Amino acid sequence: MKWFVTLLLGAALGVVAAVLWLGRGVPEAGTAAPGPAVTPAPAAAPPAAAPAPAPAAGVPLPSSELPEVVPPAPVSPATTSVDIDVKPAIGPLLLPVAGVSAKELTNTFEQPRGTERRHEALDIPAPKGTPVYATADGKIVKLFNSKPGGITIYQFDPSEKYAYYYAHLDGYAPDLKEGQQVRRGQMIGYVGVTGNSDPNVPHLHFAIFELNADKKWWEGTPVNPYPYLTGQTK
Ligand SMILES: [Zn+2]
Repeated sequence: MKWFVTLLLGAALGVVAAVLWLGRGVPEAGTAAPGPAVTPAPAAAPPAAAPAPAPAAGVPLPSSELPEVVPPAPVSPATTSVDIDVKPAIGPLLLPVAGVSAKELTNTFEQPRGTERRHEALDIPAPKGTPVYATADGKIVKLFNSKPGGITIYQFDPSEKYAYYYAHLDGYAPDLKEGQQVRRGQMIGYVGVTGNSDPNVPHLHFAIFELNADKKWWEGTPVNPYPYLTGQTK
């Protein structure tokens, strides 16, 4: 009988061993599954790395915000005040009507014209036929006849940033042509009453505007000529 007990014990041990082995085998298969879970572990590593990029992104953020904050601050105050007041690029201009002195000028730039518009120019009274001079060096870009302006001249400054506009002329100087270079003080036309000018009050309507990027001779931002004609520029 001993041999039978031994056999049973042996079988039992064998079963236990088999179960243990299987049990280990299963867990190992289980760890094999966690094994792939090791792959998610890298995925879990990114989250761990994510916090790193977050601070990393947090560092660039302040530095990128700083330059953004800095430009707006100087840009808006500095340039707008310059825009409103005086353009250093223009400099003093010659009073474009013969025999008129700066003291006689009236700042009519802000005068209302209709309900929505401003004058945005200076009116310089003078007898009809009084010579009109180029206010500065530049180029005659357009000789134009319009209903409001009458006989007009559009001149660009040498940098082609600004345009000078002369309106209500009686006529042009002989041989004045589009594309012609003119010198400061050169006679370019005569005071008149053409366009919507009061026939009883002949005057030169003189305007300056800052050209847009496309430099269309009829478009731009009005600039008050008064300080340039009266020597109030620095
Ligand atoms: Zn006017």
